[in-house]
Amino acid sequence: MRDPDCIFCKIVAGELPATIVDEDERTVCFMDIAPATRGHALVVPREHSADLLSIEADDLAAVNLAAQRLAVRVKDRLAADGVNLMNSCGAVAFQTVFHFHLHVIPRYEGDGLRLPWVPAPGDADEIAAAAQELGRQ
Ligand code: AMP
Ligand code: ZN
Repeated sequence: MRDPDCIFCKIVAGELPATIVDEDERTVCFMDIAPATRGHALVVPREHSADLLSIEADDLAAVNLAAQRLAVRVKDRLAADGVNLMNSCGAVAFQTVFHFHLHVIPRYEGDGLRLPWVPAPGDADEIAAAAQELGRQ
């Protein structure tokens, strides 16, 4: 179902300009207008879903396969040294466009991107407590 106020729905419908680099029955892939690195692209499902929690399983699978396809190209054609796939779910997690999308971010030696957290050993009891809540109940 399409959302009339959604910019990515408009891109999928051809009503807003975008530089499309790949598409299939379920997905469209276009260049991000504010790239983190050279070749940064977004993969979206044609069908509108706000986020990871609401996207339909077949669309989620198709978006991931399309992202893998693009990741292969990023390495082969742009000579990237690595790739980050990223999804933000919720405003607190940096989501700004509420049509599900996967960022495909080519990574280059010395590109300067950093993890959004500083890895450090966690508290074992707190990790175990969180695991208890997360595990199958
Ligand atoms: P997020 O913050 O994870 O929701 O990512 C949204 C992404 O969409 C950002 O990286 C924006 O630069 C990108 N973006 C927003 N509008 C457009 C547009 N019209 N065409 C291409 N990319 C866009
Ligand atoms: Zn949409």
